Amino acid sequence: METVTRFAPSPNGYLHLGHAFSALFAHDIAQSREGRFLLRIEDIDGPRSRPEFAASFRRDLEWLGLEWDEVPAQSKRLASYSDAATRLRERGHLYECTCTRAEIASLPKRVGEDGVQYPGSCKGQAIDSSGPAALRLDLDKVLASSRKLTWEDERFGQVVADPREFGDIVLVRKDLPASYHLAATLDDAADGITLVTRGEDLFTSTHVHRWIQELLELPVPKYIHHPLINDVDGLKLSKSRGSPTLKDRRESGEDGRVLADQLRQRMTFAGT
Ligand code: GLU
Ligand code: ZN
Repeated sequence: METVTRFAPSPNGYLHLGHAFSALFAHDIAQSREGRFLLRIEDIDGPRSRPEFAASFRRDLEWLGLEWDEVPAQSKRLASYSDAATRLRERGHLYECTCTRAEIASLPKRVGEDGVQYPGSCKGQAIDSSGPAALRLDLDKVLASSRKLTWEDERFGQVVADPREFGDIVLVRKDLPASYHLAATLDDAADGITLVTRGEDLFTSTHVHRWIQELLELPVPKYIHHPLINDVDGLKLSKSRGSPTLKDRRESGEDGRVLADQLRQRMTFAGT
């Protein structure tokens, strides 16, 4: 089977070194396996997404010396998100939640790895659906009705998908047609991604994505969650410390291919 990887940035700001590392990693692994490398712009966060950031991303990737095929941005795929949400709903996997952030903050807390878990107060309630409602996964129900799920991670081996840390996670946001989890999982399937590569900061998300694949009968790709690069060797990564964006570096006349090779020196971890 041909290897298909992707880089899926959100155009909410300019790219930094960590993004460059991720893009190079996805690109190189596809290239080394004679596969394909795709770019997908994850732009459903309407108010925060701006087309000029996406335009800048393409220039950054070119500057790094990469070639890619671009697939449709998430904003072009909204119908597929609502279809999937409808299917999940019809099967009883989702429930409406009208709670505000403030209400959730005032409820008794369950704390999971991904932050404070929602305690399920809207579950089974008759909701006044005239106002905005999010759709949450009914995790107890889903877990009771399914088998044990795993995914194959080329760095971490076989991993058991356990989404309990997330609680009843939101799959359709009040203000958006999907959450990151639902949109990215559907898109990876639609784009024929066979190897999802991303930073290990997103490792816990994969527990949820694996369950979404099961509930929607989607193909299950392999994964590699790569280490996050540290601010060493003068590469200056951190946004908070005001390190330059790829755009800054590009516009200052730095050679993107030299930077790409420096970043490639860091790709010496299991799985590569
Ligand atoms: N749009 C997500 C981000 O920029 C992509 C995460 C992923 O690769 O799944 O963090
Ligand atoms: Zn609620």
